[in-house]
Amino acid sequence: MNYHNITHDDMNNGDGLRVVLWLSGCLHHCKNCQNPQTWDPESGIPFDELAKQELFNELSKDYISGITFTGGDPLHKNNLKEVYSLISEIKEKFPTKTIWLYTGYTFNQCILEPGEVVHSHNGLKLERQYIVEMCDVLVDGEYIEEQRDITLKWRGSKNQRVINIPETLKQNKVVLYCD
Ligand code: SF4
Repeated sequence: MNYHNITHDDMNNGDGLRVVLWLSGCLHHCKNCQNPQTWDPESGIPFDELAKQELFNELSKDYISGITFTGGDPLHKNNLKEVYSLISEIKEKFPTKTIWLYTGYTFNQCILEPGEVVHSHNGLKLERQYIVEMCDVLVDGEYIEEQRDITLKWRGSKNQRVINIPETLKQNKVVLYCD
């Protein structure tokens, strides 16, 4: 898994002050994406032990609310295994910190339907589901230039949603974190 940047004390990608991991790899190729340099999963540099320690060091600070995964797409197939284990470790070490994740996939594209059988073609969906279920907030969907709205909080276009994942899973319907 490669990444481009780690930003500290970030106020623009979720609630409070956050540490943000900008991962490589995205297949969505949205028109006028702000970070096309991240599309290639081989771009950036390998996410190594030093980068992980940088994240953990930030998360250990009282005033940091949590971590945001963005990019690129953290749910690009090349990132799934490492993002899963990284979030698992963060939840264990920093249980009070929140996890936000930005993806070009919609929530429904990441969650198996009731009774949907896992085949090889949707095995990735199940891997995405395991990650989404560990998040506090998911900002979902591609950026659609025609629906751009600069007044929106935490997202660029109207189709994207800021989803409260624990409530969504509890109520079995999409519950928004904010409008
Ligand atoms: S999903 Fe995000 S990173 Fe990927 S192309 Fe769309 S706006 Fe860019």
